[in-house]
Amino acid sequence: MKKILIVGGGTAGWMTAALFGKLFQGLYDIELVESEAIGTVGVGEATIPAIKKYNDLIKLDEAEFMRRTQATFKLGIEFIDWIRPGHRYIHGFGVIGQDWEWLRCHQYWLRANERGQARPFADYSINTAAGLANKFMHARADMLESPIGHIAYAFQFDATLYAKYLRSLAEHHGIRRTEGRIVDVATTRDGDIASVTLEGGQVVEADFFIDCSGFRGLLIEQTLKTGYDDWSRWLPCDRAMAVPCKRTEPLIPLTRATARDAGWQWRIPLQHRTGNGLVYSSRHIDDDGAEALLLANLDGEQLANPNKLRFTSGKRRKMWNRNCVALGLAAGFLEPLESTSIHLVQSAAVRLVRMFPNGATDQATIDEFNRQEDFEWERTRDFIVLHYWANERDGEFWKYCRTMELPATLQRKIDVWRSNGRIFREDEELFAEESWIQVLIGQGIMPRSHDPLVAIKSDEQISQFLGNIATTIGRCVDVMPTHDDYVRNYCPADLIQ
Ligand SMILES: Cc1cc2nc3c(=O)[nH]c(=O)nc-3n(C[C@H](O)[C@H](O)[C@H](O)COP(=O)(O)OP(=O)(O)OC[C@H]3O[C@@H](n4cnc5c(N)ncnc54)[C@H](O)[C@@H]3O)c2cc1C
Repeated sequence: MKKILIVGGGTAGWMTAALFGKLFQGLYDIELVESEAIGTVGVGEATIPAIKKYNDLIKLDEAEFMRRTQATFKLGIEFIDWIRPGHRYIHGFGVIGQDWEWLRCHQYWLRANERGQARPFADYSINTAAGLANKFMHARADMLESPIGHIAYAFQFDATLYAKYLRSLAEHHGIRRTEGRIVDVATTRDGDIASVTLEGGQVVEADFFIDCSGFRGLLIEQTLKTGYDDWSRWLPCDRAMAVPCKRTEPLIPLTRATARDAGWQWRIPLQHRTGNGLVYSSRHIDDDGAEALLLANLDGEQLANPNKLRFTSGKRRKMWNRNCVALGLAAGFLEPLESTSIHLVQSAAVRLVRMFPNGATDQATIDEFNRQEDFEWERTRDFIVLHYWANERDGEFWKYCRTMELPATLQRKIDVWRSNGRIFREDEELFAEESWIQVLIGQGIMPRSHDPLVAIKSDEQISQFLGNIATTIGRCVDVMPTHDDYVRNYCPADLIQ
């Protein structure tokens, strides 16, 4: 194992290159081929907190990274009109209230709610309360007794600028970039990938290949014919349209997802502009209708023509096949409702480093890698499907979603939740209990009862416990700076790039 070739220079390609460059420290000869003429998707703008681990691994300075990518902070996602028009809730990152004795905070809230004594669930999350008030600050490590010690965050950024920034780091670590369009892929007699040929005839050989070529899956699908698990029966949206508009004030620390007639619309506030997009089902609305709907719902001046994309939700049958691993859109696509795609790149790239072959690839390692990938993708899919299924909206699209048969893994989770309000995070499942709880309650799926141990406390004690949490969170939010001010002081970007 001497030479690694990364095919593709989108977010996935450069994230992989920067990570390999940093962690492999020159152990392998690493080259990346990309074609400017083909270009990148480049619309991924919202992330989840785990991205901080990736940024730490490659030693990014946070303020510098945010300046260079026009980034803002993200405390969670605001879901508007998902159950029915007029309803909204937030999936905030981080903890909800605090545990008490054996139980999580929401168990006491369920009891108080039964008695009509609970405040909105949002009042027990520092992230949600701060997001709604447009406030932000970093968590204070010296204040772990306070909600201020538990603020969790991710970023909203310009993915094209992120890839550009990562490219400079990767090249600094010795990754070679070759410009050119791959027109042919050669395999060995055994069926492994041997080399790629560029327009103009240059042949690039390697021992191991990372396919980051985007939806086309140049190596993993077009060459190795790996196959695709189509999940569109659960995630029927198959088109997206992205369009930037002028930045509007205030700069909120939340990604917004608003349900529409046949899909949903995102709104992601960055420093230099706001990213918008519509994700929709082409069986329920045509492209012209979708474009009109998107453009009618921008809250700033439109800055470019819509970028139109087609996809099929799902994933490759094997992310690692022979001497090739697919990452990013080449590996599959889960729509951006919970901002998970960049995370799935990061997680697979780190997993690959941890399982990197020592010499020849062995099937046991490949199978284990694929098993872990399948698990992560399936559980992430389930979390996204939950949002669609739990709705009372009008229209054929939403009716289909609420009557579809759920994946068994999701149905089991909902059934356990419905009995006593319990959620169990399995293995390395991406979303923690707090995320499931907020979305289940947010989407109106209420359990029949709560944990019996709640009865150890009197209603008065519970009311006092919950009241204290909400009051403390309210006080903390009052003293936090606004998100606009925080960004302006901490990581101001040049507004025109
Ligand atoms: C509508 C939409 C919204 C999204 N929103 C989010 C979000 O909010 N959060 C999030 O985490 N993720 C999001 N994503 C996903 C995110 O954009 C992608 O995961 C990420 O951009 C990775 O893309 P990629 O690098 O795999 O592919 P691409 O960006 O398509 O890059 C492919 C690369 O391969 C190269 N290439 C292809 N063919 C050849 C060839 N023949 N020869 C040479 N080079 C070639 C191209 O030049 C390019 O460099 C979104 C995706 C879509 C479609």
